Amino acid sequence: QKTPKKILITGGAGFIGSHVVRRFVQTHKQYHVYNLDTLTYAGNLENLKDVEKSPNYTFIKGDITDDEFLNDLFFQKKFDGVIHFAAESHVDRSISDPLSFVKTNVLGTVNLLNASLDLVNQNPSFRFYHISTDEVYGALGEAGFFTETTPYSPNSPYSASKASSDHFVRAYGETYGLPYVISNCSNNYGPNQFPEKLIPLFINNIIQNKPLPLYGDGNYTRDWLYVEDHAMAIDLIFHKGKTGETYNIGGFNEWKNIDLTKLLCSLMDKKLDRKIGSSEKLMTFVKNRPGHDLRYAIDASKINKELGWKPSVTFEQGLEKTIDWYLENTVWLDHVTSGDYMEYYKKQYQS
Ligand code: NAD
Repeated sequence: QKTPKKILITGGAGFIGSHVVRRFVQTHKQYHVYNLDTLTYAGNLENLKDVEKSPNYTFIKGDITDDEFLNDLFFQKKFDGVIHFAAESHVDRSISDPLSFVKTNVLGTVNLLNASLDLVNQNPSFRFYHISTDEVYGALGEAGFFTETTPYSPNSPYSASKASSDHFVRAYGETYGLPYVISNCSNNYGPNQFPEKLIPLFINNIIQNKPLPLYGDGNYTRDWLYVEDHAMAIDLIFHKGKTGETYNIGGFNEWKNIDLTKLLCSLMDKKLDRKIGSSEKLMTFVKNRPGHDLRYAIDASKINKELGWKPSVTFEQGLEKTIDWYLENTVWLDHVTSGDYMEYYKKQYQS
């Protein structure tokens, strides 16, 4: 029997990482999946309850900013591949605490790249896959799309830190021959997302009859992708993407925040058996986020043509699955919205 390949997934206890860990553990039995996560406020092992006892899964608690720890771990385990999600991921938090984004997203990524270099010499099929965001490209006007060749122009400390980490990955490929792939994806939504991001925040607030804070005039536009469709794209890129290439991933699904909120409100009214229009009354316009990008939209034709990927669910189907998940997982929601979350929420929306 062949020894399983060892795949390291960083940040696998977070939102997107947990879906990819589950997918790899359940559908790629030829791998042993190591999930390395330091469990910040966004990391939650409850996201992985159903796979925690699988024989091809191991959780490792550890911090990617600790280079000695990483070097020892890579020396011991000799991973065959890395899929790197671990990051500080919330734009609003990057505005109040940019340095922690530099530490985790830039320094942490460079530590992982350094630890990977030794393995490249021992194993020619080693691959480093860096998960990134479309926010590195900056803002679009009313028209146009981000392609893989759009120049980087990040506007928030979050996107600047992700842009920097993308550049380091590329530079390690050019300078040291590290075999890498990068993908830049639009906004994700779905089960397990921490309720500081728009969709789960609004679902939670509607359940609790709390205001729905919309930045500025609500006309900010994002391209939304269901998280399991992102996980499917990541699986394809990890296995079939060309070394040294970048792939843009998007939902072909642009929504102005205000229109998305109205759709969500009407779906929630139905689910909660409330009078039509009662959730919409919770919409509240708040002072705009500084440096707020007007519009992001991805041209995902490269991954579509080269790897045959396209989203499997419509936005309405994905939103319905998401709402159902939050309504069924009230214990999960209670756990993550107690304690530190309340402090954060007060500071962010009630000051
Ligand atoms: P998340 O905040 O839900 O999860 C991040 C995970 O990383 C958490 O489990 C956290 O504990 C872990 N982590 C943070 N610092 C760490 C450290 N120093 N060492 C080890 N683990 C650490 O994030 P997410 O939304 O799942 O995003 C995952 C990745 O995908 C990020 O790199 C993000 O930039 C990228 N991305 C996210 C989106 C989106 O819409 N959420 C879109 C495109 C790209």
